[in-house]
Amino acid sequence: MIKLLIKKLINFLKLDDNVETPKIPENYKECPHCEGTGHEDLFYDCEKCNGTGIVRKTYQEYVDSLPPIK
Ligand SMILES: [Zn+2]
Repeated sequence: MIKLLIKKLINFLKLDDNVETPKIPENYKECPHCEGTGHEDLFYDCEKCNGTGIVRKTYQEYVDSLPPIK
C-alpha cells in the first residue's frame, strides 16, 4: 500500500515536470532564436519574435500544415 502511494507520488512529480515545460500554442512555433525566452539578450527584444518567445508560422507553413483537400 505504501509502495503504491510512493509510486503515485513519483508519477505525480513526473507529471509536474511535464507541466513546467513551456507549451507552444498550435499556430505558433518555438523561437529557436531566443529558445522561447523572447529575449535575445537582456536589453533587446528578439527581432524574430518581438520578445514574445514565439514565432508565428509563415503563411506557407500554415498552408502546408493544413490537411489535403479531397
Ligand atoms: Zn525569439
